[in-house]
Amino acid sequence: MFDYDVIVAGGGPAGVAAAVAAARQGACTALLERYGILGGMLTSGHVNPVLGSTSAGTIGEELMGLLCHQQATTRNGVERSVDPEEAKGTLLRWVTDAGVDVWLQTPVVDVIREGSRVAAVKVGAQDGVRTLTAGAFVDATGDGMLAALAGAEYRMGREGDGLCQPTSLEFTVDQVDERTAITCWGGTDPVTLPDGVRYADFCRQMEQVGELPAHVSIVRLHRTALPGERCVNATQVNGQNPLTREGLLAAELELRSQIPQVVAFLRKYVPGFERCALKSTGSTLGVRETRRIQGDAIVNDTDVETGGRYDDAVVHNAWFLIDIHNPAGGGQAEGHSQLAVPYDIPYGALLPKGIDGLLTCGRCISGTHRAHASYRVMYVCFATGQAAGVAAALSAREKLTPRQLPASAVQEALMRIGVDLGR
Ligand SMILES: Cc1cc2nc3c(=O)[nH]c(=O)nc-3n(C[C@H](O)[C@H](O)[C@H](O)COP(=O)(O)OP(=O)(O)OC[C@H]3O[C@@H](n4cnc5c(N)ncnc54)[C@H](O)[C@@H]3O)c2cc1C
Repeated sequence: MFDYDVIVAGGGPAGVAAAVAAARQGACTALLERYGILGGMLTSGHVNPVLGSTSAGTIGEELMGLLCHQQATTRNGVERSVDPEEAKGTLLRWVTDAGVDVWLQTPVVDVIREGSRVAAVKVGAQDGVRTLTAGAFVDATGDGMLAALAGAEYRMGREGDGLCQPTSLEFTVDQVDERTAITCWGGTDPVTLPDGVRYADFCRQMEQVGELPAHVSIVRLHRTALPGERCVNATQVNGQNPLTREGLLAAELELRSQIPQVVAFLRKYVPGFERCALKSTGSTLGVRETRRIQGDAIVNDTDVETGGRYDDAVVHNAWFLIDIHNPAGGGQAEGHSQLAVPYDIPYGALLPKGIDGLLTCGRCISGTHRAHASYRVMYVCFATGQAAGVAAALSAREKLTPRQLPASAVQEALMRIGVDLGR
């Protein structure tokens, strides 16, 4: 038996922030990660750039100081380029330097409850199945795995048909000629080709004539940390559930088969990419949307459309576009991504309804399908992770469940470390 104050499951953007934030509050903290590297989508998913924003003083500022090589401002807001290879080492050092006990290659496989409280998790460690206990747990698995194993209520997909956003596999090409090569941040990017045709229109035409895979109606080309490279966000699979063995395998097979076709398209049609070559791919497919764990509060459509304010805000002025990759086809579900107004994320959205001893953070927090399409970006995930980590540490110290802990205590602790909560 290992006993911790705080256990964080999942070492993605939300999980690393949660673990470091908890350890800095003095909690004896463990971080459990199923892969051999930290960073989640940022590293193993090859997702770049880091998007989204919050009020000043959140842990994202420190992380971007460590990881960001360059930034640009587009309709997406600030796009921060990170080198995923460098981030693998930097994040591991950052987390261990904070005193976090990191368990790599250790998936959480089960949860032990005592009444409504999560009391322990079972993990598949190198030396067998182990049981780890803690005063408070944080679910940062992206899929809300720990909460689901604990029996938490969740929603998936959009209202009506339950379809989730598609999965994609990002990759990097190098040998790009920077003198002529374009960048493209999405379907509304006005960038044109030398003949004056809008690149986004050209991609749509190429999909229709089969030069791009079905539903791949835009090939996004993001700058990376290095010149002569682009991070390519294009491949997509609709309708395969990555929470099933069959769906996961079918999606990986399909996504990996799309990559050569997208590279061939770039080499054949896009100036500056004539000699481009595949440099690297994510080591796992990218999952945009699965479980949204239902909490005491729900970040809703109105919040992101009008800038919702909450007395128990633990993240202030969270912002990103309402970016819904079409669950039923190519492009965006609503024609194009919709504007959002900076909004608060309430403490209650991190508290799974009916389950004690557990907080959520990152893309699995409590929200609607449209709100999730905004708060799922990495900069906002850092901030919900930080809030959950601080709350878990206080809860373990005070011997209160996160639900019994007053939100004002979490807010005061966040403000003491410099987070602007707008009050
Ligand atoms: C294709 C794609 C493109 C995107 N583009 C952008 C973009 O350009 N900019 C941006 O900011 N955001 C983008 N996003 C969104 C963003 O990457 C994710 O929403 C964000 O990474 C979620 O962070 P997270 O920490 O909640 O989850 P994740 O990044 O998914 O991390 C979860 C971690 O938990 C681990 N884990 C899962 N289950 C277990 C378990 N049972 N036991 C132990 N560990 C476990 C995983 O291995 C992983 O390391 C994109 C997402 C996708 C899929």
